[in-house]
Amino acid sequence: MPLRLASESLSGCSGCEIALLNTGVGLLRLLKSIKIVHMPILMDNKYFQGNDAEAELEIPEAEIGLLSGAVRNEEQLRIAEKMRQRCGSIVAFGTCASYGGIPALANLFEDADLFRRYYRTAEATDAAGNPAEVVPPFLERTFALDEVIRVDVFLPGCPPHPDGIAHLLDTLASGKKPDPELQSVCDSCPTRREGKGSVQRIRRFIRNARFQPDKPPADMRCLLEQGFLCMGPVTLAGCSGRSGGMPRCIEARVPCKGCYGPVRPGGNQLFDILNALASNGIDTKNLPDRLAVLRYSGAHRRLVRTVNKPA
Ligand code: SF4
Ligand code: SF4
Ligand code: SF4
Repeated sequence: MPLRLASESLSGCSGCEIALLNTGVGLLRLLKSIKIVHMPILMDNKYFQGNDAEAELEIPEAEIGLLSGAVRNEEQLRIAEKMRQRCGSIVAFGTCASYGGIPALANLFEDADLFRRYYRTAEATDAAGNPAEVVPPFLERTFALDEVIRVDVFLPGCPPHPDGIAHLLDTLASGKKPDPELQSVCDSCPTRREGKGSVQRIRRFIRNARFQPDKPPADMRCLLEQGFLCMGPVTLAGCSGRSGGMPRCIEARVPCKGCYGPVRPGGNQLFDILNALASNGIDTKNLPDRLAVLRYSGAHRRLVRTVNKPA
Protein backbone atom coordinates (compact mmCIF):
# COMPACT_ATOMS: atom_id res chain seq x y z
CA MET A 1 0.00 0.00 0.00
CA PRO A 2 1.41 3.46 -0.85
CA LEU A 3 2.59 5.65 2.00
CA ARG A 4 0.42 8.69 2.59
CA LEU A 5 2.12 12.08 2.36
CA ALA A 6 0.73 15.34 3.74
CA SER A 7 2.44 18.63 2.96
CA GLU A 8 2.11 22.14 4.33
CA SER A 9 3.84 25.40 3.46
CA LEU A 10 4.53 27.90 6.23
CA SER A 11 6.62 31.08 5.93
CA GLY A 12 8.46 30.49 2.67
CA CYS A 13 8.24 31.09 -1.05
CA SER A 14 6.87 27.77 -2.40
CA GLY A 15 10.17 27.14 -4.16
CA CYS A 16 10.57 23.87 -2.27
CA GLU A 17 7.29 22.59 -3.71
CA ILE A 18 8.39 23.67 -7.19
CA ALA A 19 11.57 21.68 -6.63
CA LEU A 20 9.39 18.69 -5.72
CA LEU A 21 7.55 19.08 -9.03
CA ASN A 22 10.92 19.40 -10.74
CA THR A 23 11.68 15.80 -9.82
CA GLY A 24 9.78 15.28 -13.11
CA VAL A 25 9.41 11.67 -14.19
CA GLY A 26 10.89 10.75 -10.82
CA LEU A 27 7.71 12.15 -9.25
CA LEU A 28 5.55 9.94 -11.48
CA ARG A 29 7.56 6.94 -10.31
CA LEU A 30 7.28 8.08 -6.69
CA LEU A 31 3.52 8.35 -6.99
CA LYS A 32 3.40 4.55 -7.23
CA SER A 33 4.73 4.28 -3.68
CA ILE A 34 3.49 7.56 -2.21
CA LYS A 35 -0.03 8.92 -2.16
CA ILE A 36 -0.37 12.67 -1.62
CA VAL A 37 -3.36 13.13 0.69
CA HIS A 38 -2.92 16.79 1.55
CA MET A 39 -0.98 19.53 -0.22
CA PRO A 40 -2.92 22.80 -0.33
CA ILE A 41 -0.35 24.43 -2.60
CA LEU A 42 -1.16 21.88 -5.34
CA MET A 43 -4.56 20.45 -4.46
CA ASP A 44 -7.74 22.19 -3.37
CA ASN A 45 -8.34 20.89 0.12
CA LYS A 46 -10.51 22.87 2.52
CA TYR A 47 -9.18 22.09 5.92
CA PHE A 48 -10.24 24.92 8.22
CA GLN A 49 -13.72 24.28 9.64
CA GLY A 50 -14.97 27.82 9.17
CA ASN A 51 -13.06 31.02 9.71
CA ASP A 52 -13.06 30.87 13.48
CA ALA A 53 -9.51 31.17 14.81
CA GLU A 54 -10.33 28.40 17.32
CA ALA A 55 -11.74 26.09 14.65
CA GLU A 56 -10.23 22.66 14.33
CA LEU A 57 -7.82 22.09 11.47
CA GLU A 58 -8.61 19.07 9.34
CA ILE A 59 -5.40 17.49 8.13
CA PRO A 60 -5.64 13.84 7.11
CA GLU A 61 -3.43 11.24 8.76
CA ALA A 62 -0.24 10.44 6.87
CA GLU A 63 2.93 8.47 7.34
CA ILE A 64 5.08 11.36 5.99
CA GLY A 65 4.59 15.05 6.71
CA LEU A 66 6.54 17.50 4.55
CA LEU A 67 6.70 20.97 6.05
CA SER A 68 8.36 23.81 4.17
CA GLY A 69 8.89 27.32 5.45
CA ALA A 70 9.79 28.82 8.80
CA VAL A 71 7.28 29.48 11.58
CA ARG A 72 6.48 33.19 11.82
CA ASN A 73 2.91 33.52 13.02
CA GLU A 74 0.28 31.83 15.20
CA GLU A 75 -1.54 30.20 12.30
CA GLN A 76 1.68 28.58 11.07
CA LEU A 77 2.38 27.33 14.57
CA ARG A 78 -1.08 25.70 14.74
CA ILE A 79 -0.55 24.06 11.37
CA ALA A 80 2.89 22.74 12.39
CA GLU A 81 1.49 21.33 15.63
CA LYS A 82 -1.41 19.68 13.84
CA MET A 83 0.94 18.18 11.25
CA ARG A 84 3.00 16.75 14.11
CA GLN A 85 -0.14 15.12 15.54
CA ARG A 86 -1.30 13.70 12.22
CA CYS A 87 1.96 12.56 10.61
CA GLY A 88 4.25 9.69 11.51
CA SER A 89 7.50 11.33 10.38
CA ILE A 90 7.98 15.05 9.97
CA VAL A 91 10.43 16.27 7.33
CA ALA A 92 11.76 19.83 7.65
CA PHE A 93 11.60 20.48 3.92
CA GLY A 94 14.05 23.14 2.77
CA THR A 95 16.29 25.62 4.51
CA CYS A 96 13.50 27.85 5.87
CA ALA A 97 12.04 24.92 7.79
CA SER A 98 15.46 23.58 8.81
CA TYR A 99 17.26 26.80 9.77
CA GLY A 100 14.84 29.72 9.38
CA GLY A 101 16.11 30.63 5.92
CA ILE A 102 15.41 34.03 4.41
CA PRO A 103 12.31 34.67 6.63
CA ALA A 104 14.56 34.56 9.71
CA LEU A 105 16.36 37.69 8.50
CA ALA A 106 13.35 39.43 10.07
CA ASN A 107 14.79 38.42 13.44
CA LEU A 108 17.16 41.36 13.06
CA PHE A 109 14.29 43.85 13.32
CA GLU A 110 11.46 44.89 15.60
CA ASP A 111 8.00 44.03 14.25
CA ALA A 112 7.03 47.73 14.31
CA ASP A 113 9.97 48.54 12.03
CA LEU A 114 9.05 45.74 9.65
CA PHE A 115 5.45 46.94 9.44
CA ARG A 116 6.59 50.51 8.90
CA ARG A 117 8.87 49.39 6.11
CA TYR A 118 6.28 47.17 4.40
CA TYR A 119 3.22 49.38 4.74
CA ARG A 120 4.51 52.94 4.88
CA THR A 121 7.93 53.42 3.37
CA ALA A 122 8.12 50.83 0.57
CA GLU A 123 8.75 52.64 -2.71
CA ALA A 124 6.34 50.55 -4.79
CA THR A 125 3.15 50.88 -2.72
CA ASP A 126 1.03 53.64 -1.20
CA ALA A 127 1.32 54.12 2.55
CA ALA A 128 -1.28 52.28 4.65
CA GLY A 129 -1.95 51.30 8.24
CA ASN A 130 -0.92 47.98 9.71
CA PRO A 131 -3.37 45.24 8.71
CA ALA A 132 -5.90 44.68 11.50
CA GLU A 133 -7.76 41.70 9.99
CA VAL A 134 -6.96 38.40 8.29
CA VAL A 135 -3.20 38.56 8.93
CA PRO A 136 -2.47 36.22 11.88
CA PRO A 137 -0.52 37.68 14.82
CA PHE A 138 3.25 37.34 14.65
CA LEU A 139 5.13 35.14 17.09
CA GLU A 140 7.97 36.78 19.02
CA ARG A 141 10.41 35.86 16.22
CA THR A 142 10.88 33.52 13.27
CA PHE A 143 11.46 29.93 14.31
CA ALA A 144 12.92 26.92 12.54
CA LEU A 145 10.58 23.96 12.67
CA ASP A 146 12.51 21.98 15.28
CA GLU A 147 12.20 24.90 17.69
CA VAL A 148 8.43 24.40 17.85
CA ILE A 149 7.80 20.70 17.10
CA ARG A 150 9.83 17.48 16.97
CA VAL A 151 11.41 16.93 13.55
CA ASP A 152 12.46 13.49 12.29
CA VAL A 153 14.34 14.36 9.10
CA PHE A 154 16.00 17.52 7.76
CA LEU A 155 16.22 18.17 4.03
CA PRO A 156 17.80 21.61 3.71
CA GLY A 157 18.40 23.54 0.52
CA CYS A 158 16.92 26.71 -0.88
CA PRO A 159 15.39 24.85 -2.51
CA PRO A 160 16.62 21.27 -2.07
CA HIS A 161 17.85 19.71 -5.30
CA PRO A 162 15.12 17.56 -6.92
CA ASP A 163 17.51 14.56 -6.80
CA GLY A 164 17.74 14.91 -3.02
CA ILE A 165 13.96 15.17 -2.67
CA ALA A 166 13.35 12.08 -4.82
CA HIS A 167 16.05 10.15 -2.96
CA LEU A 168 14.60 11.01 0.44
CA LEU A 169 11.04 10.11 -0.55
CA ASP A 170 12.28 6.86 -2.14
CA THR A 171 14.16 6.03 1.06
CA LEU A 172 11.15 6.74 3.28
CA ALA A 173 8.81 4.83 0.95
CA SER A 174 11.06 1.78 1.13
CA GLY A 175 11.00 1.89 4.92
CA LYS A 176 14.71 2.71 5.29
CA LYS A 177 16.30 5.30 7.53
CA PRO A 178 17.58 8.34 5.61
CA ASP A 179 21.37 8.61 5.48
CA PRO A 180 22.39 12.16 6.38
CA GLU A 181 24.74 14.01 4.01
CA LEU A 182 27.79 15.23 5.92
CA GLN A 183 29.98 16.61 3.16
CA SER A 184 30.51 20.27 2.34
CA VAL A 185 29.90 22.10 -0.93
CA CYS A 186 33.69 22.17 -1.45
CA ASP A 187 33.67 18.37 -1.63
CA SER A 188 31.84 18.46 -4.95
CA CYS A 189 33.45 21.65 -6.26
CA PRO A 190 35.78 21.16 -9.23
CA THR A 191 37.64 24.50 -9.00
CA ARG A 192 41.43 24.58 -8.83
CA ARG A 193 42.90 24.95 -5.34
CA GLU A 194 46.47 26.11 -5.04
CA GLY A 195 46.80 26.36 -1.29
CA LYS A 196 46.83 28.72 1.61
CA GLY A 197 48.33 32.11 1.97
CA SER A 198 47.63 33.79 -1.36
CA VAL A 199 44.83 36.01 -0.01
CA GLN A 200 44.90 38.01 3.22
CA ARG A 201 41.55 39.81 2.98
CA ILE A 202 38.07 39.04 1.73
CA ARG A 203 36.39 41.53 -0.61
CA ARG A 204 32.81 42.01 -1.69
CA PHE A 205 31.62 40.16 -4.75
CA ILE A 206 31.01 43.28 -6.82
CA ARG A 207 33.37 42.29 -9.60
CA ASN A 208 33.32 39.03 -11.47
CA ALA A 209 35.71 36.31 -10.48
CA ARG A 210 38.64 35.64 -12.78
CA PHE A 211 37.78 32.84 -15.18
CA GLN A 212 37.84 32.05 -18.87
CA PRO A 213 34.30 31.79 -20.23
CA ASP A 214 35.26 29.14 -22.76
CA LYS A 215 36.86 26.92 -20.09
CA PRO A 216 35.03 24.72 -17.55
CA PRO A 217 34.88 25.69 -13.85
CA ALA A 218 37.63 23.12 -13.20
CA ASP A 219 40.01 25.60 -14.85
CA MET A 220 38.90 28.44 -12.55
CA ARG A 221 40.78 29.06 -9.33
CA CYS A 222 38.84 28.48 -6.10
CA LEU A 223 36.76 31.61 -5.41
CA LEU A 224 37.87 31.79 -1.79
CA GLU A 225 41.47 31.75 -2.96
CA GLN A 226 40.52 34.60 -5.32
CA GLY A 227 39.47 36.59 -2.24
CA PHE A 228 35.68 36.19 -2.36
CA LEU A 229 33.61 35.00 0.56
CA CYS A 230 32.62 31.55 -0.67
CA MET A 231 30.65 29.64 1.95
CA GLY A 232 31.45 26.28 0.40
CA PRO A 233 33.67 25.03 3.23
CA VAL A 234 30.95 25.49 5.87
CA THR A 235 27.84 24.63 3.86
CA LEU A 236 26.19 21.26 3.50
CA ALA A 237 26.58 19.59 0.11
CA GLY A 238 23.55 18.60 -1.94
CA CYS A 239 22.99 21.27 -4.57
CA SER A 240 25.09 19.30 -7.08
CA GLY A 241 22.44 16.60 -7.27
CA ARG A 242 23.25 12.92 -7.07
CA SER A 243 24.69 12.28 -10.52
CA GLY A 244 28.04 14.00 -10.52
CA GLY A 245 26.99 17.61 -11.01
CA MET A 246 28.72 20.60 -9.50
CA PRO A 247 27.51 23.17 -6.96
CA ARG A 248 24.91 25.39 -8.59
CA CYS A 249 26.57 28.74 -7.86
CA ILE A 250 30.04 27.54 -8.76
CA GLU A 251 28.71 26.41 -12.12
CA ALA A 252 27.62 30.04 -12.61
CA ARG A 253 31.07 31.22 -11.38
CA VAL A 254 29.48 32.82 -8.32
CA PRO A 255 30.53 32.18 -4.68
CA CYS A 256 28.37 29.87 -2.58
CA LYS A 257 26.09 31.89 -0.30
CA GLY A 258 25.47 29.02 2.11
CA CYS A 259 21.87 28.15 1.23
CA TYR A 260 22.04 24.53 2.44
CA GLY A 261 22.91 25.66 5.96
CA PRO A 262 25.69 24.27 8.14
CA VAL A 263 27.41 20.98 7.34
CA ARG A 264 26.39 19.48 10.67
CA PRO A 265 23.00 20.06 12.30
CA GLY A 266 23.49 22.58 15.07
CA GLY A 267 26.53 24.11 13.37
CA ASN A 268 26.93 27.87 13.19
CA GLN A 269 27.97 29.04 9.73
CA LEU A 270 29.33 32.32 11.06
CA PHE A 271 31.67 30.70 13.60
CA ASP A 272 32.60 28.01 11.11
CA ILE A 273 33.53 30.43 8.33
CA LEU A 274 35.49 32.67 10.71
CA ASN A 275 37.47 29.61 11.77
CA ALA A 276 37.97 28.47 8.20
CA LEU A 277 39.19 31.91 7.12
CA ALA A 278 41.48 32.34 10.12
CA SER A 279 43.03 28.93 9.58
CA ASN A 280 43.78 29.99 6.00
CA GLY A 281 45.59 33.08 7.23
CA ILE A 282 42.81 35.46 6.15
CA ASP A 283 42.08 38.55 8.24
CA THR A 284 38.49 38.24 9.56
CA LYS A 285 38.29 41.58 11.40
CA ASN A 286 37.02 43.51 8.39
CA LEU A 287 34.90 40.79 6.87
CA PRO A 288 32.20 42.57 4.82
CA ASP A 289 28.55 41.67 5.49
CA ARG A 290 29.39 39.55 8.51
CA LEU A 291 25.73 38.98 9.50
CA ALA A 292 24.83 38.12 5.93
CA VAL A 293 26.79 34.92 6.49
CA LEU A 294 23.73 33.83 8.49
CA ARG A 295 21.24 34.86 5.82
CA TYR A 296 20.01 31.28 5.53
CA SER A 297 20.41 30.09 9.10
CA GLY A 298 19.19 32.89 11.33
CA ALA A 299 16.71 30.89 13.45
CA HIS A 300 17.82 29.10 16.65
CA ARG A 301 18.69 32.58 18.00
CA ARG A 302 21.57 32.97 15.56
CA LEU A 303 20.22 36.33 14.36
CA VAL A 304 18.82 38.62 17.04
CA ARG A 305 17.52 42.18 17.02
CA THR A 306 20.42 44.56 16.72
CA VAL A 307 19.03 47.10 14.27
CA ASN A 308 15.97 49.25 14.84
CA LYS A 309 15.25 50.82 11.51
CA PRO A 310 15.54 48.84 8.30
CA ALA A 311 16.66 51.04 5.42
S1 SF4 B 1 13.88 27.07 1.53
FE1 SF4 B 1 14.11 28.55 -0.14
S2 SF4 B 1 12.88 27.65 -1.79
FE2 SF4 B 1 12.20 26.67 0.13
S3 SF4 B 1 10.49 27.90 0.89
FE3 SF4 B 1 12.38 28.69 1.84
S4 SF4 B 1 12.99 30.41 0.48
FE4 SF4 B 1 11.58 29.13 -0.68
S1 SF4 C 1 35.60 27.65 -1.37
FE1 SF4 C 1 34.06 27.80 -2.97
S2 SF4 C 1 35.17 27.86 -4.90
FE2 SF4 C 1 36.59 27.13 -3.32
S3 SF4 C 1 36.43 24.90 -3.41
FE3 SF4 C 1 34.96 25.58 -1.88
S4 SF4 C 1 33.04 25.81 -2.99
FE4 SF4 C 1 34.68 25.73 -4.51
S1 SF4 D 1 26.51 26.70 -4.16
FE1 SF4 D 1 25.89 27.23 -2.06
S2 SF4 D 1 24.41 28.92 -2.25
FE2 SF4 D 1 24.68 27.98 -4.29
S3 SF4 D 1 23.00 26.49 -4.41
FE3 SF4 D 1 24.81 25.39 -3.62
S4 SF4 D 1 24.65 25.51 -1.37
FE4 SF4 D 1 23.25 27.02 -2.24
